Amino acid sequence: MPLRVLILGGTTEASALARLLAGEPRFEATLSLAGRTAAPKSQPLPTRIGGFGGAEGLARFLRDERIDVLIDATHPYAARISANAVAAARATDTPLASFVRPGWTAQPADRWQIARSATEAAERLGPAPRRVFLSLGRQELHAFAVAPQHHYLARVIDPPERTDLPPDLRLLQARGPFDRASEVRLLVDERIDVLVSKNAGGAATYAKIEAARELGLPVVMIARPDKPGGESVTHVEQALAWLEHHAALRSLRGV
Ligand code: NAP
Repeated sequence: MPLRVLILGGTTEASALARLLAGEPRFEATLSLAGRTAAPKSQPLPTRIGGFGGAEGLARFLRDERIDVLIDATHPYAARISANAVAAARATDTPLASFVRPGWTAQPADRWQIARSATEAAERLGPAPRRVFLSLGRQELHAFAVAPQHHYLARVIDPPERTDLPPDLRLLQARGPFDRASEVRLLVDERIDVLVSKNAGGAATYAKIEAARELGLPVVMIARPDKPGGESVTHVEQALAWLEHHAALRSLRGV
């Protein structure tokens, strides 16, 4: 019998793992998405969309669907689902592997200021009006309403649901990855003074950091939250090896 796998996704790593597992007879994997984007990229695995209803809901899902192993491949800033994954895995005795995506580190030419939250990032922009590029998704744009003196350009996949946004905010709807030359062009054309970013890590969205470095622009970097996890994996091949190990254990037990 194939090993039943649940992947908590919404990231490049989850999509890459989905591609690796599609059509693999040893595994029967389902990908879970929160449903934050209206038209998510199509996936080669059966996909379920929407929250589970907290850690208890996730534990119920693991039991009901007879999931053998759980992989948390969510974004470094998605801390709640990861805490739920740890609690649900513990409650159901389900092995859990969690992707750890190393953060970017500041290079000598980088001008980073670290903020602990989007609210603190808004404060760090200072009193004088600036042209600010917000590249942090759509969920925390409202935090910048406390600093209405700035002009904001916010890059998002889907428009924000909240309406309590800063008054001078323009949306740029686009989905990465982006390259360095086009990021430089965007920052120059929009006469951006400062970039606000999460420290997402990985290659897909790093070009904006390189572009800011090239132009000597400051970056307000929102620090990562504490994200609990199970056994750490850093790349998809390692996740596959972990799955193969559990598939082998299972067949040794004769299940
Ligand atoms: P979060 O704060 O950790 O999660 C909030 C709630 O959303 C969770 O409690 C859970 O609801 C539901 N949820 C989150 N991920 C889920 C998944 N993969 N499958 C099913 N339900 C999920 O997460 P978030 O920061 O809002 O991020 C939501 C999703 O977007 C994540 O899957 C993440 O990988 C992806 N993403 C996030 C960011 C970011 O900057 N935060 C960036 C890129 C992609 P219940 O408690 O009801 O189960």
